[in-house]
Amino acid sequence: LGRPTDERLERVLEMLRQRGGRVTTARRAIVAALLQSSGHVTADELTATVQAAQPDVHSTTIYRCLEALEELDVVDHVHLGHGRAVYHLTDQPHQHLVCEGCGLVVEVPDEQFAALRADLRDRYAFTIRPNHFAVLGRCERCAATSR
Ligand SMILES: [Zn+2]
Ligand SMILES: [Zn+2]
Ligand SMILES: [Zn+2]
Repeated sequence: LGRPTDERLERVLEMLRQRGGRVTTARRAIVAALLQSSGHVTADELTATVQAAQPDVHSTTIYRCLEALEELDVVDHVHLGHGRAVYHLTDQPHQHLVCEGCGLVVEVPDEQFAALRADLRDRYAFTIRPNHFAVLGRCERCAATSR
């Protein structure tokens, strides 16, 4: 683990404290595991990573902590496709574009959807929340190889 990751870990834990959450060993381990991973992992993958570092943390504890962290809005889940939900940290807000061909996940800033959000609200009185599900499509490479 490099220094930038350590700094981000402390920042996320500070965010957790500010929102009234306690920093427990298990919660710290979950945040560290999310930072270590690609950033988008299932609850099972997260459990495996946490338990590799802390074998005494029970999986029910991890699931409970994950729920608590989600309620405190430190962690969020997103559906990238047909599979199970994946978890990521909320300190660097982003939306997801997922390639249906190769599974590539492209993270894009929230602002990317600002114009669409405003337009849909004006025309249909509907406020979209694109962060819960990814927008599916094709990456450049897959678009080039498909007819
Ligand atoms: Zn969901
Ligand atoms: Zn994400
Ligand atoms: Zn692709």
